[in-house]
Amino acid sequence: MRVTLSPRPSDSSADVVVVPVFDDRRPGPGAVEAAAGVDLAAALRATPAFRGRVQDAPIVITPSAAKCATVVVVGLGPRAGVGADAIGRAALRAGYAVRGRRRAALALGRIGDDVPAAVRAAVEGYLLGSFERPRPGASPRPAYESVAGQLAVLVDASDARRVDVREALRRGQVSGERTLWVRTLTDMPANHLTPTMFADAIVSDAAASGYAAHVWTQAQIRERGFGGLLAVAKGSSEEPRVVELCYGDQTAPVGLVGKGITFDSGGINLKAPLGHIAWMKGDMASAAAVAGAVSAVAALGLDVGVRAILPLTENMPSGSATRPGDVITHPNGLTTEVTDTDCEGRLVLADGIAHLAAAGVAGIIDIGTLTDAAGYGPSLVAVAGTDEAFVDEAIAAGARAGEPSWRMPLVPAYVELMRSQVADLINGPLDIPDSSVLAATYLREFAGAVPWAHLDVGSTAWLEHAWDGFPVGPTATPMRTLLRLLEGRASVSDEGVDD
Ligand code: MN
Ligand code: MN
Repeated sequence: MRVTLSPRPSDSSADVVVVPVFDDRRPGPGAVEAAAGVDLAAALRATPAFRGRVQDAPIVITPSAAKCATVVVVGLGPRAGVGADAIGRAALRAGYAVRGRRRAALALGRIGDDVPAAVRAAVEGYLLGSFERPRPGASPRPAYESVAGQLAVLVDASDARRVDVREALRRGQVSGERTLWVRTLTDMPANHLTPTMFADAIVSDAAASGYAAHVWTQAQIRERGFGGLLAVAKGSSEEPRVVELCYGDQTAPVGLVGKGITFDSGGINLKAPLGHIAWMKGDMASAAAVAGAVSAVAALGLDVGVRAILPLTENMPSGSATRPGDVITHPNGLTTEVTDTDCEGRLVLADGIAHLAAAGVAGIIDIGTLTDAAGYGPSLVAVAGTDEAFVDEAIAAGARAGEPSWRMPLVPAYVELMRSQVADLINGPLDIPDSSVLAATYLREFAGAVPWAHLDVGSTAWLEHAWDGFPVGPTATPMRTLLRLLEGRASVSDEGVDD
């Protein structure tokens, strides 16, 4: 997709024009000029249900003449203090309302005091809204490059020349496009995205975006002691993969681990209710989000070091599957009694965390669709960790990204609830309900002294009901959080800003 800044009040080549209205039902800056001849006041009078709030469904005004644009009116909420969050959420709704249009113009670049933030939020949000669920088999490989068309952000002429505004546009585009890739991967059915196919998709993106992706051989997976991954993979006829991503300076990089279960049946502890198993092709959402964030950082050329471990496998029941009660060994020598084969995500994350903890990383963030994220619901990622500053950094990055999160407590004594009679740990409690806190308690044992944060996206990476402008399906959460965190750690270099 071609994404540009337009130093003009309107764009006559667009087939869709997005204009803002505040909750006083009056147009935002530039809206009337961009709507060029369309009577916004009449449209607002005709749609009393639209009150200019962010959560209101946009008004779509179809053109009266063939060559005119469709005008989409979005709500921004209160005029006072309006910022990137409202702009991004409004742009998402606009993109979703008119997805498939070829040439869009967004009159969202003149809102608020922070022009770069407005421009980035507008582009990122509009691209998020443009996601169309892939038709498996229709194209050989999911690719964000397939988003065709043109997107122009209307800004003042003086702002169009600013280096920081142009950089914000680029970051919004790269981030938005990667979210489409992540969601495409996440939505692919398990028969169209096996661990091998997933690894191949990442390897081809790595070549295009400029980072290294090493796929470990089966012998390497074994040598490096990934007993959790091998145990989960035992029941499947598909081979597991580990993809190791490296970008930037590898002395003390940020370490990331993403759960990549391409289908989670539960294993021998088979998931019974249809509602629980229906979206389990999406249990690799976190691995996709990590790959998307590394891809974005590389495409932007940010001066930051990152190393990621993506353990990819199916979790299936069969005659060779891991049984409840089996004991496995992780890379750091810790052993787990597999009390519940459906608690497989933490087994593969444990391997990745232990591996990185011994590899000299500055800190480790692990991400998984593990549990219901402490019941925080579809708006909040649950964040836990051993290092307060690191947890704060992740929460602040989520706030900037439009992916809000909330701190989840860790109670050190709860590790006693995860003790086994025959191994160091159990992966699921037998006599009390499992929880997000207990999953984090288990994983903490593998990080050792390395600063560690844990993101549970079990309630946010895949939406079972439409929510906050997103349709049912994958959201790419927490890809944008990870990107913002890595941006925050990148040294500012002239190279990155001067394009
Ligand atoms: Mn499971
Ligand atoms: Mn799972």
